[in-house]
Amino acid sequence: MEQQPKITQKTTKPAITKIRKKKRTRERGLNMLFSNKAHKFPFLSITAAAYIVRLAITLVVLALPVILFPHFSAISDARHEQTDTPAQNAIETTPAANNEYTAKVLSLSQPSIETLAGSQTIQQEQTDAPQPKPQTDIPEKPPDYSPAASSQQPWDDATDIIHYMNGVPPEPPEPKLPAIPPEPPEPMKVAYITIDDGPSRAITPGILDVLQREEVPATFFVLPHQGLDDIYMRIIEEGHEIGNHSYSHNYTRLYSSHNIEAFKDDIIMARDFILENFGYLTTSFRFPGGSGGRSSAVIISRREVLAELGYRDFNWQIDSGDASPHDTDKSADGIVSQVLSNTRNREHLIILFHDTASKRTTLEALPRIISGLREQGYTFDIIRNYPIS
Ligand SMILES: [Zn+2]
Repeated sequence: MEQQPKITQKTTKPAITKIRKKKRTRERGLNMLFSNKAHKFPFLSITAAAYIVRLAITLVVLALPVILFPHFSAISDARHEQTDTPAQNAIETTPAANNEYTAKVLSLSQPSIETLAGSQTIQQEQTDAPQPKPQTDIPEKPPDYSPAASSQQPWDDATDIIHYMNGVPPEPPEPKLPAIPPEPPEPMKVAYITIDDGPSRAITPGILDVLQREEVPATFFVLPHQGLDDIYMRIIEEGHEIGNHSYSHNYTRLYSSHNIEAFKDDIIMARDFILENFGYLTTSFRFPGGSGGRSSAVIISRREVLAELGYRDFNWQIDSGDASPHDTDKSADGIVSQVLSNTRNREHLIILFHDTASKRTTLEALPRIISGLREQGYTFDIIRNYPIS
């Protein structure tokens, strides 16, 4: 008993305090490690963390059907509607539209069912949890375009297109009235003024003045007169036609049945006279006195010569009468009446005039004849443009 105080006495007071602090620190650490409080705290922390993780996973899985498949809750309603009132649905929609609608609903419901089947816990909790409110954005049923319903709704262009796509027959077209054939156009009537035997110093310039003023082309079947070159040239320059009317104008020479070469030489001489003096090649020919009343054999053989020389020959439909031996005093009124009263509405009308010094009535009558023919609807042209029949 006496030694213990010695020992206590040998140890200094600060050392004793240090030792005690170390001891308390050691004991506190052991308490932290082995006491009930220190042992339960980490155990409970691990449990709580696991619980929180499980709860989070559960909430996420529970939320998946609602977030990803908002139409899930509406599926059963839609199915109930279809199964409960099949007759009503059949009336409201066409079979094709119902099939399409059902396929759409099934495609939406399939993922949701598979998700629920994969987790028994989730299904149990979802059953216990309050049922989510049915979604209101159910895909609308397609409009009814059946023929029965078409009469109850207005038609427009858009519905016409949809009707066409759904096989609805279009409305029958309105009956068309028989087409009225257009009236045939008025035939263009052409008058060909032909003036034979010229030119002449006394008459031709006056005729050219009238034609120029009236802007009417004409055809001059000329003879080889000397000293009238300026008139020939004026005829050409003013756009009229010069025709071959023979060189001799001698009926015996031209129409002797056995002298076809004389006819040919006469035509060539007239052609060359006009060609060499005025540089104008004639292509139209008029038989002196006309071809009418002569032997057809004579005319046919001469026409072969004319064709060989490149000519077409022309007679006339109306003789103005200004060259008739019995009409030497035929008045201008008589000439006008003779022409205008015999047109007979011909489509192509060749009119015969003469150009000699004694035919002043021809010049006087010509303006009135042109005016009268225009009133009858005629236009004017040169004989070269007469249509080939
Ligand atoms: Zn003549």
